[in-house]
Amino acid sequence: MAMTRREAFKNLAKGSLPILAAGCVSTALPEVAHAEEEKVAPKGALGLLYDATKCVGCKSCMVKCSEYNELQPDTRTDGLHQAPPALNYFTKNIIKLYRTADGSDHSYFKQQCMHCIDPGCMNACMFGGLRKDEETGIVWWLGAKCVGCRYCEIACPFHIPAFQWDGFNPKIVKCELCRDHIAKGGKQPGCTEVCPTNAVIYGKREDLLKEAKSRIAANPGKYFQQKVYGEHDAGGTQVLYLSRVDFDKIGLPDVGENSIPSGLKYSHMLYKWLALPIALYAGMVAFAGKNFKEHSHHLVEDQKKTGLRPQL
Ligand code: SF4
Ligand code: SF4
Ligand code: SF4
Repeated sequence: MAMTRREAFKNLAKGSLPILAAGCVSTALPEVAHAEEEKVAPKGALGLLYDATKCVGCKSCMVKCSEYNELQPDTRTDGLHQAPPALNYFTKNIIKLYRTADGSDHSYFKQQCMHCIDPGCMNACMFGGLRKDEETGIVWWLGAKCVGCRYCEIACPFHIPAFQWDGFNPKIVKCELCRDHIAKGGKQPGCTEVCPTNAVIYGKREDLLKEAKSRIAANPGKYFQQKVYGEHDAGGTQVLYLSRVDFDKIGLPDVGENSIPSGLKYSHMLYKWLALPIALYAGMVAFAGKNFKEHSHHLVEDQKKTGLRPQL
């Protein structure tokens, strides 16, 4: 049965949040249910293919990434290989080392934004601070709209966006597939331009996917689960991976095949209408009112018993 907005607010005023939640999800937000259709990559979607079996850990890609993105060098280290140990607001690309406890096996792993087909970061942002380019699918940050709430950081299944902690007007920093460099006439991103082994290559997602599958077909048993990570993971990503070692061990978690935003869209809409804060406030008022009545009743009863005047 459909619920009008007036009825929804009436329910809110009664503090009946569960009714609101059920009503909103089933009836009041039909456009959201429609938007839950599976997203596909844009026709011209660009991306990277990183083959961990080809990477020699030289970090040339990190150096070029910093140069093309005009980021200051970050030399903090974990004392092993990681320098810096994680992505941060002046590191958009990092090469990490995975090593077994006995040191008998190892693999490198390149971490940067995955340019998700249905990005959690973008869908979580209530202010339109992240955009996905309609043609290339590149996910980029729009400083003018960002209020620095860091919702995008929490929503990203790969822990990519980095918040700039120092500065009066903090930025959210992440790989934008060198879109500024390419807009200025650059032929390809810094990381793919300098990689000496072609461990990371750049191109259209559909071509990269074909290339990855042909490597798997040509090398039976070489790649973990004969799988291209990112083909379907988190709803599909434009950065794709091949690895000999378990993806989870090198830093690519099992996030399932659904994109993260489905649940976020509902909370987003609730916040957009200010319905959730109103519902919580109405619930608190109803709860406080009920407690106050009970409290007054007890005081009156106490006065009858003791003869002492109550303090409200
Ligand atoms: S990897 Fe994270 S930051 Fe990059 S597009 Fe996906 S959700 Fe956004
Ligand atoms: S595409 Fe550009 S910004 Fe992204 S990791 Fe490569 S060099 Fe860095
Ligand atoms: S430049 Fe290529 S080989 Fe060197 S660390 Fe980066 S991805 Fe690996």
